[in-house]
Amino acid sequence: MPTVTVNHGLVSHNATHDGLGGPVGSADLMNASLAIIGGTGLYHLLQNAEEVRPETPYGFPGAAIQVGELGGRRVAFLPRHGVDHTLLPAEIPFRANLWALHALGARQVVAVNAVGSLRTPLRRGDMVLVDQFVDRTWGRPDTFSGDGEVVYISAADPFCERMRRTAHGRLLDLQERVHADGTVVVIQGPRFSSRAESTWFSKQGWDLVNMTIYPEVVLARELQMCYVSLCYVTDHDACVGDSATEPVSHHAVAAEFGRGLDRIRHALKVLAPGLADDPSCGCRSAVSSATA
Ligand SMILES: [Zn+2]
Repeated sequence: MPTVTVNHGLVSHNATHDGLGGPVGSADLMNASLAIIGGTGLYHLLQNAEEVRPETPYGFPGAAIQVGELGGRRVAFLPRHGVDHTLLPAEIPFRANLWALHALGARQVVAVNAVGSLRTPLRRGDMVLVDQFVDRTWGRPDTFSGDGEVVYISAADPFCERMRRTAHGRLLDLQERVHADGTVVVIQGPRFSSRAESTWFSKQGWDLVNMTIYPEVVLARELQMCYVSLCYVTDHDACVGDSATEPVSHHAVAAEFGRGLDRIRHALKVLAPGLADDPSCGCRSAVSSATA
């Protein structure tokens, strides 16, 4: 496992398929060292973008991947839920998504996630660079290993520390309301939490709730990509610790995310050139000592 090379396991895909395919073998499209995965409400981001949808050993990614420019850097952008938000969290082809982005050259990932707050100090519109997760999902393929290949990867520090710290500094420079760390509990969805679940999560000391960070973060780690999650607080889950009277709804999440979209786009435009790649980062050798 993951001596993944650009062409390893990648099936060239004809442009006629669904109208979404593209020149997967073309050298200029293989040079997007940064991937951005957009969450609810973030479906287009780049300038001068071309679209590709490479087939991987795990099927097709959930949407066409846009490759273009952001802040002067070549970036691959994937809308996680599909361009029309047609994929449930548990339906997202996480393995194909990460594999395809890696195959296009990405070694760094900035994931954008809508999250609910479990603590009053984390307010709607805040940004949080989470450093820990708790997995409450089930049934999602969460490893590339298997079929005779055994990898016990460490998830002790699953998010790239170097990118997280740099992103925090850049966002502070932008005067953003940004928190440097936090623990996110990832639930299966698509339903939101009950009040009892939300209270329990909060009492565990967890900060945020989301439906998609797992297994995306650990799959990126298996591919030895640096991964950071830019969480945007859209709601207060089931009213825990907040004066809100209405529990969260998808409409409320989408509306709040929409209000923050200009800030998020601007933050990403600054982060893209500001998060320099570092091949010596520890994430880049995450698998080397983990193979049985
Ligand atoms: Zn890293």
